[in-house]
Amino acid sequence: MNLCIHGHFYQPPREDPISNYIPAEIGAEPFDNWNEKILSECYEPNAEAGNFGKISFNVGPTLFRWMWEFKPEIARMIVDQERENYEKYGVGNGMAQSYNHTILPLASRRDKLTQVRWGVEDFLFRFGHRPEGMWLPEAGADLETLCVLSDIGLKFVILAPWQVVGVDGSPGPYLIDLPDGREPFVVFPYRRDLSTMVSFVPSSTENGERFVSLVRDNLAARPDGLNIIASDGELYGHHQKFRDHFLSYVLNLVESETDLHWTYPGLWLRENEVTAKAKLVEPSSWSCFHGVDRWARECGCTPGAEWKTPLFSAIQTTAEWLDEVYYSKAIKLVNDPWELRNRTIKVLNGEQDIGEISKDLSLSALTTTEIELLEVLLKAQYARQRMFTSCGWFFDEFHRIEPQNNISYAAYAVWLTEKATGVAPNPKILQLFGEVYSNKTGLRGDTIFTQTLMRANNET
Ligand SMILES: [Zn+2]
Repeated sequence: MNLCIHGHFYQPPREDPISNYIPAEIGAEPFDNWNEKILSECYEPNAEAGNFGKISFNVGPTLFRWMWEFKPEIARMIVDQERENYEKYGVGNGMAQSYNHTILPLASRRDKLTQVRWGVEDFLFRFGHRPEGMWLPEAGADLETLCVLSDIGLKFVILAPWQVVGVDGSPGPYLIDLPDGREPFVVFPYRRDLSTMVSFVPSSTENGERFVSLVRDNLAARPDGLNIIASDGELYGHHQKFRDHFLSYVLNLVESETDLHWTYPGLWLRENEVTAKAKLVEPSSWSCFHGVDRWARECGCTPGAEWKTPLFSAIQTTAEWLDEVYYSKAIKLVNDPWELRNRTIKVLNGEQDIGEISKDLSLSALTTTEIELLEVLLKAQYARQRMFTSCGWFFDEFHRIEPQNNISYAAYAVWLTEKATGVAPNPKILQLFGEVYSNKTGLRGDTIFTQTLMRANNET
């Protein structure tokens, strides 16, 4: 019986937009911040146990970037464990993730492409080989997203079972037909019952042997295909204590004694053919039963969150203004400003500088001043991508760090763009942030926006 545990490892970006450091966080004691605490409770023990070599996983690029700098030896262990599979089987067990945890069905095609390109390039930079699968933030999917993935050479995604409707009653994995002559795309629906059990019924994973017998009973009724248990990777040791040990125990059981064959999607695809067809339910996700409404407006998942619609509209208006100014300035220097933006990941990762990524796109040799202008505009485009981080809309209360951070990233992007070009921001932006407020505390979006502008003026 083919079984796979997928862990999605991710933390919202809590870096200050200006300093790019995570401020000291209450509740994380004795550590300075939550990333450090979760590293010690989850990433580190799971890496030391070798668990990253035996599950399917993705590490959010923004989290991995932090880990890479803060504890490179742990990041290295994760990469090495994945690499071993890649060298042995020609396909690794790591999946890429689009870069900033943007809900892709809510993003424009141009932003989808940037997010996916950055995610693939970042994976290649850290793991040393191209990914075959991509974890979509909140499993948010629509056909356009799958087209963008397919065009870049990706082969599969993992989705919740309610995001696909099988045509012939098969349990999956499935092929989803894509338009314009593209090959069908593979979707692995995860097992709802097993995933819910592991994620939300802690007693089911208290004892490894009992877990195995539960799983065997469950799979006896439906042994075919690849049975994926999808989970928040931080469950193993952080959200639930000792589950790093649980994971290590079950992953190392002898196959002949349990009938359980641990594998992962890329490897399973090497050994099996997918023929069953399904239709994608779009847009859809794994943690909102109203499509992807949760990340743009009030829905039944977060009733009373009236601030969500104005926040989304303020962020979108900010993006429109930033893109207008960026394009109008960059098009005088390079023939494809959006391709230049897609290449910026190489600058973020320190592989190349702006001069190098713009060389074959520039209309004529760029002067130092022109390169500096592009540098600031692209820094603003990075903050602009960050301001769409889905965590800003996940919870019901506005008075939390995640939505406030998105506003700060927006303000910083506007500040950088104005500073570099002298173009005054669209006054509608501040007005729209003024319509975002907390019913509980009265905190207003325009206050956060203005405070960030003032800090940028004082601190840089
Ligand atoms: Zn919802």
